[in-house]
Amino acid sequence: MKYIDEYRNPDLVRSLSAEIQRKITRPVRIMEVCGTHTMAIFRHGLRRILPEKLYLVSGPGCPVCVTPPGLIDAFCKVAGRRDVITATFGDMIRVPGSSGSLADARAKGADIRIVYSPADAIQIARDNPEKLVVFIAIGFETTIPLIAASILQAYREDINNFCIFPANKVMPPALETLMKDTSLNLDGLLCPGHVSIITGSEAFSFLAEDYGLSCAIAGFEPADILLAILALMEQINEGSYRVDNCYTRAVTAAGNLKARELVQEVFTPVDSRWRGLGTIAGSGLVPKGKYADFDVTRRLAIQVSEIDEPPGCLCGEILKGMKRPSECPLFGKNCTPSAPIGPCMVSNEGTCAAWYRFGVESI
Ligand code: SF4
Repeated sequence: MKYIDEYRNPDLVRSLSAEIQRKITRPVRIMEVCGTHTMAIFRHGLRRILPEKLYLVSGPGCPVCVTPPGLIDAFCKVAGRRDVITATFGDMIRVPGSSGSLADARAKGADIRIVYSPADAIQIARDNPEKLVVFIAIGFETTIPLIAASILQAYREDINNFCIFPANKVMPPALETLMKDTSLNLDGLLCPGHVSIITGSEAFSFLAEDYGLSCAIAGFEPADILLAILALMEQINEGSYRVDNCYTRAVTAAGNLKARELVQEVFTPVDSRWRGLGTIAGSGLVPKGKYADFDVTRRLAIQVSEIDEPPGCLCGEILKGMKRPSECPLFGKNCTPSAPIGPCMVSNEGTCAAWYRFGVESI
């Protein structure tokens, strides 16, 4: 299969791993931002073929995980209304808020449906004109253009019973917040591949220029990830800071301009609260201007409260790369994928779920 098999070639993977071994001269700390990278690193067993001195930490790149508990409570409150059908991606449904999850709300009678895209939610709205259909809009730059397109479609078709619960987030402001925390002590960053397809590699240049961080954009096959780590090792050894695009078959410098135009047409930036990172200026998006009524928080005057993390849960620290799941006293005991306490154990891209699924011994 073109563009996949060649990046899984065992000889290439072995030679890249050996080259990384040769290049590393001191302990190096690299963050993989994207939850899909976290899962790919585990799935392909890459930690076992990387040098012990190379310390990989996960970042805030799982959209379900960074959604704070106060927002989940607000999702559940809206979902509990008799006049509402809630449409959500599957990962979100089991994430607990302070008084239960969307799955609990559904068990109490709320009409909550799992969808694969916002276009599915539009169809539900067409089929149920007497109900307000609320799409839980989570996700980063990769998902946001689809949501913008769905709002444009609803506007064009005059579908007034469709709206979103805006909980999308954009990645650069969150990375800037992380970089200001010097205790993180990062040597390099594996930039998120999917997000970069939309934003372009230039969106991450400020990390190299303003924060002196070596950056590399990686794809999701084993050789993609190792190529990017090798690029980071070369920058670190040279003492240079730039963004190396190691995913050129998908990522350009400027990104997907059409998708970015869609987003700019529909949304305006707002401050947004992230689990673990607090409120970050300009890191969220809400529909603007003639699209503003597609925002359910505006239409129904919904307030979102600040709620504490579940007692004992370290998701906030894990999302900042400050702790590993094995440092959480609840990991694998009180908190498992079948009985999760925090979102990092629920999501397919959650760090705790990856550690649990693939085994701590694979680290
Ligand atoms: S193991 Fe569970 S409780 Fe601990 S940090 Fe992960 S999700 Fe939170």
